[in-house]
Amino acid sequence: DLNITGSVGIAMYPSDGSDLGTLMRCADAAMFRAKRHGRNSYRFFTKEMEVSTALHLQLINALRFAQDRSELAIHYQPQIDVHSGRLVGAEALLRWTNPGLGDVAPSVFIPAAEESGLILTIGEWVLRNAVRQAASWINKGLAPFVVAVNLSAVQFRQPDFPEMVSRILDEEGLPANCLELELTEGVAMHDPLAASAVLNDLYDRGIRIAIDDFGTGYSSLAYLKLLPVDLLKIDRSFVKDIETDKNDAAICASILALAHSLGLKVVAEGIETAAQRDFLHAHHCDYLQGYLFAKPEPSAQCLARLSRMQPAAQA
Ligand code: C2E
Ligand code: MG
Ligand code: MG
Repeated sequence: DLNITGSVGIAMYPSDGSDLGTLMRCADAAMFRAKRHGRNSYRFFTKEMEVSTALHLQLINALRFAQDRSELAIHYQPQIDVHSGRLVGAEALLRWTNPGLGDVAPSVFIPAAEESGLILTIGEWVLRNAVRQAASWINKGLAPFVVAVNLSAVQFRQPDFPEMVSRILDEEGLPANCLELELTEGVAMHDPLAASAVLNDLYDRGIRIAIDDFGTGYSSLAYLKLLPVDLLKIDRSFVKDIETDKNDAAICASILALAHSLGLKVVAEGIETAAQRDFLHAHHCDYLQGYLFAKPEPSAQCLARLSRMQPAAQA
């Protein structure tokens, strides 16, 4: 099926401009706003859009050169096994520092990278470097450990994506079961049949699949049952007020019960306090990740932490 929607940007003469070029530019900015807010709608041009469109273009332009100018880095945030207290893996989180713009937050530049298509090359760079890093840690004598890499919808929809992942694992020498790919619910559920074909292919190659930010989007439980998913990651927004908000506590407990009854493991994100950790421990959460244990940190610091927590290591 082809599903076509329209996104419309509207500029008014003469308040937004007095010539065709200006009016078209304003209408274009308004159309991009309509697209960014979910498409299939319209927006009238406002002055604020002009500023934000200019900033947005400046951001995308700078991002275009970020990889070649070595402005990108990967930080690693440890994941802890609740039962053994051991560090069992780490999530790779992309960082961008630009001389003019400073540190740009992933929540700002990842959407820009997705919109511009730059996420394809940047995402492959993240995947290759995270896989290489994990292989080098394992070669240093650290116990097998899992590196989790975030995926964008655009990457996931590339036709040869599973082959590319296998090729990178082969070339960098990392066993497939030491890689976990994190997808958000939206990516997995947008087109469940297509997603399930790709996920099954990845699963058959031995790669682990996690659903990120679980509970914040729309998940069909029927599809969740059919998808070859290993893990659910409970979003930080539910964990944050777990001690004070009865609803959040109930949501976390329910996600844990649901996941376990489907044979899935659960990672809780954004643990900042001992009380949050204790609640999740009491409800049999499998893995924990958050500032209470460690912030995302450069690879050298993460290696030092790994070596401390896994004494067999030779740093
Ligand atoms: P995410 O995958 O859900 O990552 C978790 C985010 O929560 C990270 O934000 C992490 O730094 C933050 N976090 C972890 N523990 C705590 C805590 O205890 N308290 C608080 N306040 N925050 C915590 P970050 O690094 O800013 O990344 C934001 C999002 O950007 C990620 O959310 C992910 O969706 C996306 N992202 C990051 N790197 C990549 C990448 O390489 N590729 C893609 N496609 N997306 C990425
Ligand atoms: Mg993630
Ligand atoms: Mg998340």
